[in-house]
Amino acid sequence: MKKAKKIFETAKNEGRTFVLEHEAKDIMKEYDIPIPPYDTAATADDAVKKSKEIGFPVVLKILSKDILHKSDAGGVKVNLKNEEEVRKAFEEIMEGAKEYGKKKGMEVDLSRGVFISNFAEMGTEVIVGVTKDPQFGHALMFGLGGIFVEVLKDVTFRLIPLTKVDAEEMISEIKAAKILEGVRGQEPRDTQALVDIILKVSKMIEENPEINELDCNPTFVYAKGDGALVVDARILIGEAKADH
Ligand code: ADP
Ligand code: MG
Repeated sequence: MKKAKKIFETAKNEGRTFVLEHEAKDIMKEYDIPIPPYDTAATADDAVKKSKEIGFPVVLKILSKDILHKSDAGGVKVNLKNEEEVRKAFEEIMEGAKEYGKKKGMEVDLSRGVFISNFAEMGTEVIVGVTKDPQFGHALMFGLGGIFVEVLKDVTFRLIPLTKVDAEEMISEIKAAKILEGVRGQEPRDTQALVDIILKVSKMIEENPEINELDCNPTFVYAKGDGALVVDARILIGEAKADH
């Protein structure tokens, strides 16, 4: 059985409607989508050990079945440069998650500890997302990140599966396309790497239609030839509760 199917089965059995970040990254890896190296750790000591293996600077993120939006729970600490910073971040993340739980009046499961990832150099932020329409099925969304998507709604959609031409059109038809082509002395971005990610995501959805929603947000795209990296991947799956 493919890794993705096993991950969905486990999530459903645990009554989860989303997969945890390391699981999402395992699935991305299966489809050869570029992501920074990562691991998980349940204790501060283990987090230090794994950070050394991955290489500083690192990012720590809360890993809990009760927290979908990690930053909202104070659950993301970036650019941690040494052992001391990793230990401190681990404790702060655990405290923050407990506080978040208290405010929400629920017990947050902290047993899985944290997701650790290499701290990726900031690139131009883009979003590759997937939504599912009851009538038309899965559609892929592309846009620039931050205000472009949140305020200006500068995004474009295509039904899955996509062709290479679809992917290229999406990238060139958003209003902010010039930003990717290179403006104000900035080198053009690696749009080929984006086409590649879009096509791999399309394939991943085709083969895993149980995915209800996907959000590669942010995806960093670098200068031409330097590629792109998906640094956060959220995957929602369907009908987990209805099964039990
Ligand atoms: P969430 O969306 O659940 O709050 P993210 O994983 O998107 O959490 O992390 C929040 C922010 O932290 C991201 O928008 C990004 O700016 C930054 N970030 C996350 N992972 C990395 C990474 N590996 N390298 C660099 N920055 C990161
Ligand atoms: Mg995110």
